[in-house]
Amino acid sequence: KSHRASRDGFKPIRVSIEFFPPKSDEMEKILWSSIERLAPLQPKFVSVTYGAGGSTRERTHNTVARMVKETNLKPAAHLTCVDATKEEIDGVVQSYWDAGVRHIVALRGDPQDGVGTTYRPHPGGYAQACDLVAGIKKVGDFKVSVSAYPEVHPEAASLDADIDALKAKVDAGADQAITQFFFDNDVYFRYLDKVRAAGITIPIIPGILPVQNFKQAANFARRTGASVPYWLAARFEGLEDDVETRRLVAAAVAAEQVVDLVDAGINDFHFYSMNRSDLVYAICHILGLRGHGPKATDRKAA
Ligand code: FAD
Repeated sequence: KSHRASRDGFKPIRVSIEFFPPKSDEMEKILWSSIERLAPLQPKFVSVTYGAGGSTRERTHNTVARMVKETNLKPAAHLTCVDATKEEIDGVVQSYWDAGVRHIVALRGDPQDGVGTTYRPHPGGYAQACDLVAGIKKVGDFKVSVSAYPEVHPEAASLDADIDALKAKVDAGADQAITQFFFDNDVYFRYLDKVRAAGITIPIIPGILPVQNFKQAANFARRTGASVPYWLAARFEGLEDDVETRRLVAAAVAAEQVVDLVDAGINDFHFYSMNRSDLVYAICHILGLRGHGPKATDRKAA
């Protein structure tokens, strides 16, 4: 059965938004002004990524802790298994619990020598994301999100092996999955059919990357195994030096993608914001969300 046929009337749209921890004062300002702008849309949660090799452990923690302290948003902290013992990771998880964080995005993380090389688990660490999920659930009653790969993880032996890995994460307690970004919705629907056929029933939230910069997005896609359809490249062709038109085209492309998903009955979206608010705000507006909610810092009104 196709998911395109599964539309069952109006469902409220829910969005979550992903940020990365800032590396400089200037980037910090950009992040927080984006948070201020997007917060009144009342995202279901906002997530903060964890740098490769644990390089942003402190920055991720500080950003998430500040969100808990100063805003009415519900933050989710990303966490990976890379280069850390179980005890160290459990300590990080405990400190999130103590800071009032109740949602973690649990990942294995990329190989230490870069994408395309072999991942080496830490001898005293969590070997796979499913082990991390189980470890997190032991520390506290967190909501745990995990990754899903509609176009197959670059290291996976096959799509079936990848779906087995997702199943292992669900069996370990994962509550929902967020997909790697994709541009062709049929890829997502085909994946969803396979996941459901494998008996996995958790929400598989589509991860949407609004294309702020086509060249960067294409590079990003190459590393993650996401395909870039020819029509997407064609839409941005010749706009390298035309920022204004590029932004309009970017909004149109992303709107087309999410509206098509809504038409097929999808009502949950995760946006890779790259810490910028404009495109995400515009797409959410098109989805019917209005920025009438409380400001980020308006804690009592939440
Ligand atoms: P896994 O589910 O662990 O899968 C990785 C590979 O191992 C796959 O090939 C899978 O088939 C295989 N595998 C899994 N379990 C088993 C098993 N039990 N036995 C054998 N093989 C197995 N990276 C960061 O560094 N920081 C982040 O904040 C971050 N956030 C992300 C958010 C999302 C929504 C997504 C989609 C990815 C994110 N990543 C992040 C990238 C991620 O860390 C990499 O893609 C990494 O290479 C894989 O980790 P994973 O948990 O996504 O994959």
